[in-house]
Amino acid sequence: MNKGTDVMSLSRDEMETWMQQQSYPKYRGTQLFESLWRQRLAGYGQISAWPKELREIMSRTAPFYRLQAVTVQKAPDGTRKILARLSDGQQIETVVLPHHYGYSVCVSSQVGCNMGCKFCASGLLKRTRNLTAGEMLDQVRLANDLIASEEQGVSRVDLMGIGEPLDNYDNVVRFIKMAHDSHGFNLSHRKFTISTSGLIRDIYRLSQEKIPVTLAVSLHAPNDALRSQIMPVNRAYPITPLVEACQFYFAKTGRRVSFEYALLAGINDSVLMAQQLAKLLEGLSCHVNLIPWNPVPEHPFSPSPPKRVEEFQKIVQNRGISCTIRKELGQNIEAACGQLRRREDAAHHIEL
Ligand code: SAH
Ligand code: SF4
Repeated sequence: MNKGTDVMSLSRDEMETWMQQQSYPKYRGTQLFESLWRQRLAGYGQISAWPKELREIMSRTAPFYRLQAVTVQKAPDGTRKILARLSDGQQIETVVLPHHYGYSVCVSSQVGCNMGCKFCASGLLKRTRNLTAGEMLDQVRLANDLIASEEQGVSRVDLMGIGEPLDNYDNVVRFIKMAHDSHGFNLSHRKFTISTSGLIRDIYRLSQEKIPVTLAVSLHAPNDALRSQIMPVNRAYPITPLVEACQFYFAKTGRRVSFEYALLAGINDSVLMAQQLAKLLEGLSCHVNLIPWNPVPEHPFSPSPPKRVEEFQKIVQNRGISCTIRKELGQNIEAACGQLRRREDAAHHIEL
């Protein structure tokens, strides 16, 4: 392996093959995979099962970089938000959320996002690069390190942090397959949610992958006119074919699709919009998640009042569609993804 090979993004099979290519036994590959993801070791020097010579050779020839937590904020409800530094100095966010069943982790998939949704903090910073599978796995590792004293590890992974996961398709699929490995995090496919702004072609691709993850589609508007205004991606991938793709996803995977709908006062929260939404999703095996919009100072919206959110929910439910209001977690640590990183960037610019 050449210096610069991305060790943390190698699957266990690939690690085994690589060890064999260098005339080491195959099981050294599995030991490395387990050291990285089950034992969460910080470097080759800590792999006590290896002879000293091998540890030294590997440290020299195939170094790897662990994400560094720059800050960790903890909200009274137990939510932790990590600002993490990548090997090239760029920063991303990872959020660890407590639930009755344990913890989930909200993982970023890109540095920035190119989709430009008008209500989102992540989209304010354009994508500078995709995250590797190893960098996504290392976010789960960071989360596990953080909660190590309390729990066995996170039990759900949501690709809902910064970035559009389906715009980084190959690395995201690789990440899920590697996190599934029983020698690593051992998370079943059902424990993953991919949230997407609706890249239709990739939804079809994903439905063929034999990794039945939950698909969450960020809808946020029940008609093309409004959706194209607040989510420019809708101009390329409009609502009708998007809902068809979701139908196909359900047919192929048996996984009920979730629709995310952040309520913006006076924009998408009227009775008529609720009716349109219910009509759109009629007959589809799905679930609607109403999200109280988390204010982003740069955007001119305000969140719908709680009463309006409840009314909206009732209308959708009365049409026979499963609909819940997402609990707000970690409010006072700006848990809407992208916000912390943006503030740090702003502070940095001021310092300069
Ligand atoms: N890019 C993907 C995943 C990341 S965003 C996507 O858009 O689906 C995760 C979810 O948070 C999406 O449903 C997104 O629309 C929503 N979101 C973005 N900004 C928000 C905000 N300020 N308040 C509430 N939800 C927000
Ligand atoms: Fe990107 Fe999702 Fe934010 Fe839209 S909502 S800008 S797709 S991160």
